[in-house]
Amino acid sequence: MPQVSKFFLTFGENFRNTMLEDKNTKRTELSEMGEFGLIRHLSSLIKVKNPETLKGIGDDAAVINLGKNSGLVSTDMLVEGVHFDLSYVPMKHLGYKAAMVNFSDIYAMNGIPKQIFVSIAISNRFSLEAIEEFYAGLMLACEKHDVDIAGGDTSSSRSGMIISITVVGVAPNKQISMRNKAQLGDLICVSGDLGGAFLGLQLLEREKRIFLENPGIQPDLGENSYVLERQLKPEARKDIIQKFAEIKVVPNAMIDISDGLASELFHICKSSEVGCMIYENKLPIDQSAYQLALDLNLDPTVCAMNGGEDYELLFTIPMKDHQKVSENMDISIIGQITAESAGIYMLDKSDHVVPITAQGWDAFQS
Ligand code: ADP
Ligand code: MG
Repeated sequence: MPQVSKFFLTFGENFRNTMLEDKNTKRTELSEMGEFGLIRHLSSLIKVKNPETLKGIGDDAAVINLGKNSGLVSTDMLVEGVHFDLSYVPMKHLGYKAAMVNFSDIYAMNGIPKQIFVSIAISNRFSLEAIEEFYAGLMLACEKHDVDIAGGDTSSSRSGMIISITVVGVAPNKQISMRNKAQLGDLICVSGDLGGAFLGLQLLEREKRIFLENPGIQPDLGENSYVLERQLKPEARKDIIQKFAEIKVVPNAMIDISDGLASELFHICKSSEVGCMIYENKLPIDQSAYQLALDLNLDPTVCAMNGGEDYELLFTIPMKDHQKVSENMDISIIGQITAESAGIYMLDKSDHVVPITAQGWDAFQS
């Protein structure tokens, strides 16, 4: 409508003039805020109006009241060159991982994913066959987890590929696990093992550098299939959620490990207003990942704490569920929830108490 475009034209012009006149106009760099700082700031501007919106911004998924059950909704964006590198990630793996990381956010609420909506922006650099491969990966993941692809959006892109997936899940109200309900004395548990996905990425990056310097050399990925699978083909932990239902345990707090254990511990502790003590010698690290870390001159503990992309579940349970969980679940108990005033610490292998810093992966750095 002409009036509308005139409004925006005038608005834009005034805006630009203001910018030119006032050279001191405040400009805050996003790199100073970091990804989490930006999200915190945006969420302080946003107010939820509807009583059905039980949880908006601030957890692995939003929670929407549907009566006895809640709908769980989460969305994730993957940008070529930021989150994935097509020089070593096959399209089928990309589709598989894009779906899995979304399912993981629903499992992190103790819910079951049901539908995904897939939006992609692509340039003419991509062929139909490449997109079909991407969808073959998506569909394989959906098949495994009993999820439907129920829609999406398609656009052209001038540079790389952008993927945005929204996942919808469901959980009985009483069963939902949020980040902010960890209780003093809870045991801190983690599924699977940590650091592998990060080490797989280091390996792929190293071989890419060697290849770019000398295209004649074939990649040497050696005996590292485990960590490569952890990076290229992560598995969201539906089995853990099914086990919780079977043994009738609801974790007090839960989050999935996308940015690294340290970062996720911070999310749980800050939002629950508690502290924690983690034991370095209890961190689950696969033997081959441990050895590879040493070979690459990396500290295996740092890989496990800060690596990210393992898509394991980090959760806290009350002491009364200890026996049920340790007898029935293949998980590691890595520490305990303490008082907020006690802070966020790790007891290292030489019995030193060291503070944990939240050095999760940050989209705005580098
Ligand atoms: P995850 O690592 O589980 O994908 P994020 O750190 O991306 O979670 O997001 C944390 C919370 O912030 C979620 O509730 C998410 O919906 C919300 N969030 C992230 N980015 C935005 C945004 N641009 N606008 C509004 N909410 C956002
Ligand atoms: Mg998450």
